[in-house]
Order: sequence, then C-alpha cells, then structure tokens
Amino acid sequence: MSDSSGEAHTHSQNIEQLQTALVSWYESDHRSFPWRDTDDPYPILVSEVMSQQTQLSRVVEPYRDFLDRWPTVESLATDEQSAVVQFWSAHSLGYNNRARYLYTAANQVIDEFNGEFPRNPDELESLMGVGPYTANAVASFAFNSGNAVIDTNVKRVLYRLFDIEDEDSVYAEQAQRLMPSNQSRVWNNAMMELGAVACQKQPRCDTVGCPWRGQCQAYRKGDFSAPDVQSQTAFEGSRRQMRGRVIATLGKYEELPLEKLGPRIRVDYANDGQYDREWLRSLVMDLADDGLVVIKTETKTGTDRVALR
Ligand code: SF4
Repeated sequence: MSDSSGEAHTHSQNIEQLQTALVSWYESDHRSFPWRDTDDPYPILVSEVMSQQTQLSRVVEPYRDFLDRWPTVESLATDEQSAVVQFWSAHSLGYNNRARYLYTAANQVIDEFNGEFPRNPDELESLMGVGPYTANAVASFAFNSGNAVIDTNVKRVLYRLFDIEDEDSVYAEQAQRLMPSNQSRVWNNAMMELGAVACQKQPRCDTVGCPWRGQCQAYRKGDFSAPDVQSQTAFEGSRRQMRGRVIATLGKYEELPLEKLGPRIRVDYANDGQYDREWLRSLVMDLADDGLVVIKTETKTGTDRVALR
C-alpha cells in the first residue's frame, strides 16, 4: 500500500473528474430496478430490507407483490404482523425477523413520526431493524440526504481505486470525500452499480468500460487484490497475466496483426464474447502507453499490427 489516505493520488481536480465520469457512466446505462424509479421512502425501505439477504434480481417479484398487498406504510401498519411473516416465508425472503422488524418500523412511522418517514440517517436508525447502512440508503434514495454508503462492494472499489489501507475509518473518509456534495442519491446508486457490475471480485474493467480505468491504481498495476479477494489464484485471467502473455507471444513473432494475436492470448478470444477485439485493443494500447509495444496501422487495410518495441 502506498499511503493510508490515497491523498497522493487524488487531488481535488481528479476527484471532480472521478465524480463526473462515474455519474455519466451510471446515467448512460444501468440495471433497472423498480425501487430505483421512486423516491418514496416506504417502498425503498421495503426493497432494502428484502435485499439484505437476497440477490437484487430475486427481490423484484416479492417487492412488487408486497406493494400490491400493502401499498402504503399505513396499510402495512394496520394489518396483522402474522400476515407479513406469512408473506415473508411464502416468498423465501430469509429470516422472518426481518418481516417483524419491517412491520414494527411501519408502526413506528405512524405512531412516532405522524405517518411521515424521518429524513435523516440518525432518525431513520431509530426504526426497528434499520442499521446505519439501511438508514443511509433510505436517506439517500428517498431524500437525497444521506452520507456515502459503504458496503463490501464499495470497499472493494475504493481499495482498488486509491490503493488504501483496509481500515473502516479510511474507507469512511475516502468514500465521503469522493461523494459530490448533496448528490447522495445518484452517487450511492452509481457506486453500488460500479461495485456490482464492474469492480466485481474478478473485475470486468474493460468489458463494461469502467469509467475510472485512467485513474485506478489497481488497473494501472494489474493487481486486483482486495480485502475480500484473498488469493493470488483469483488473478488467473487478470489483466496483469494477460499483459505478460502478450509480451511473451510477441517475443516469438516479429509482429502480429491483432486478429492473430487474440487467439494466442486467450483460447476464448472471440469477436462477440467478453474477450473480443476491443478488449485486446485496450490491452495492447496500455502496453503501448507503457512503452512496451508499438502498434502500426496499415493505411490501406486499416489492420493493426503489434510488435515489441
Ligand atoms: S478500473 Fe477495474 S479495478 Fe479499477 S475501479 Fe474500475 S472496475 Fe475496479
């Protein structure tokens, strides 16, 4: 690790670039979930409680059924708790306690907050079963008034992006510094989306066009270790390994067109797959930026040929 704060890598100008790049990446395309189309805190709380134990894609159906049955916080609070628990079991939503907590929270909103959800994370935390993470998520997605959300995915992103210490206080500081002020709604959605679809344990930096490749420390070094990615064997197929393979292959040939290089780097290289021409091109361009290879484009045919420098 280079330093504990990541300060050396991220001046305020860079922070702004990171913010703009991520927000436009998120806004141009993201997975669509029904709870992302609302700013009503009640359905947002329902989706958060459901997704604590279940993959997001599997929450969509129970979420819709739940809101069909209890469309408002009042309707939930005035029903029987047993009906909610039954619903929870019937939809295999995990621990029934969550159903009880949700029911109690609905009653608190009615009795203690006059039917209006509290808007800030501290007050939201006073609701039954709502911990710091959920409180922050509801405050952000419903009221745009949350702090930076930190979960395992977000930690992995920050760790790789800034090359920082694996310490809760460092994550908290960096996450908050990175978040554009008063934009917790879009920002937390975007960070979580990045962690879920791009910066996975086995990262998909190029395949999904991570907007931070230019500034990411892990990407630059080809080392994608993370607190929840323990073993070097997880790097089988990593960018670092692929870079090494390109260099080794080019050592055997004077030069190769990209089409001929691809299948020598990966057996699953294909024009319509994850490891396609675009992936190879970006890999080779990086090596060219690092001064290790040269790319010559034939003017007549437009073919790119690669050689060791
Ligand atoms: S470039 Fe890769 S490792 Fe870095 S933040 Fe993006 S997805 Fe994660």
